[in-house]
Amino acid sequence: MTELRLEGVSKQYGTDAGGTTALAGIDLTVRDGEFFTLVGPSGCGKTTTLRTIAGFEEPTDGTVSFDGTPMTGVAPEKRDVGVVFQSYGLFPHMTVAENVGYGLRFRDPPEGTTVDERVAALLELVDLERMGERNPDQLSGGQQQRVALARALAPEPDLLLLDEPMSALDARLRESLRRQLTQIQSTLGVTTVYITHDQQEALAISDRVAVMSNGRIEQVATPQEIYREP
Ligand code: ADP
Ligand code: ADP
Repeated sequence: MTELRLEGVSKQYGTDAGGTTALAGIDLTVRDGEFFTLVGPSGCGKTTTLRTIAGFEEPTDGTVSFDGTPMTGVAPEKRDVGVVFQSYGLFPHMTVAENVGYGLRFRDPPEGTTVDERVAALLELVDLERMGERNPDQLSGGQQQRVALARALAPEPDLLLLDEPMSALDARLRESLRRQLTQIQSTLGVTTVYITHDQQEALAISDRVAVMSNGRIEQVATPQEIYREP
């Protein structure tokens, strides 16, 4: 669907003396259809990287491009990205189906489908086909996070960005959501950038992993390459 490239991406919050360098020159290529994970300790710059890709932040320096097109100055809703945050961010006063449909507010449903058909297809994709009329607070944490995933995928984004989507879930739910997520990702083939501080999770879920530290990328490797290290 799309290749993502970051070239020399830096991000400074605030001004020099009192400021924070969140990103200190990130170079990264995520291939078309890849499941790519950023892993590293809290504060290393993962969320800032993701927000820069999504367009919620502009880099202080450097370029983000999708399929060779620079995204500088392109608003988030014009970027063809679906985002899922750690806190599900569902609208409590809307039903599950309305939440998923909200993902289509900036965009038409795919050619030849109505909004209702698209919502139904997405709820089926995440195994919640009978939950559409419920409110989010009537669902488990894992189910709520699947609604957030369905909402992000509704407009058929080129890129799926996931910021610690499992962190609020217990181990059992994490395992089942992880299985579902990798299955959906490989079925749709959507280029995916996933964030976690959990190295085991990164290795279990990804095609390739970028290890981050202090606003830099230390290493990019496949899980097999990382396991093989002494
Ligand atoms: P991670 O997602 O890996 O935990 P972040 O990208 O959230 O890392 O943060 C990277 C650094 O930037 C941290 O030092 C953090 O305190 C700082 N930071 C993040 N967001 C802001 C902000 N809005 N204003 C100032 N500093 C920030
Ligand atoms: P994390 O928990 O990883 O730090 P947050 O949930 O705090 O991530 O990120 C929420 C931030 O993202 C908010 O600052 C909000 O302004 C921004 N945000 C979330 N969704 C959108 C959106 N659709 N459009 C613009 N900004 C958004």
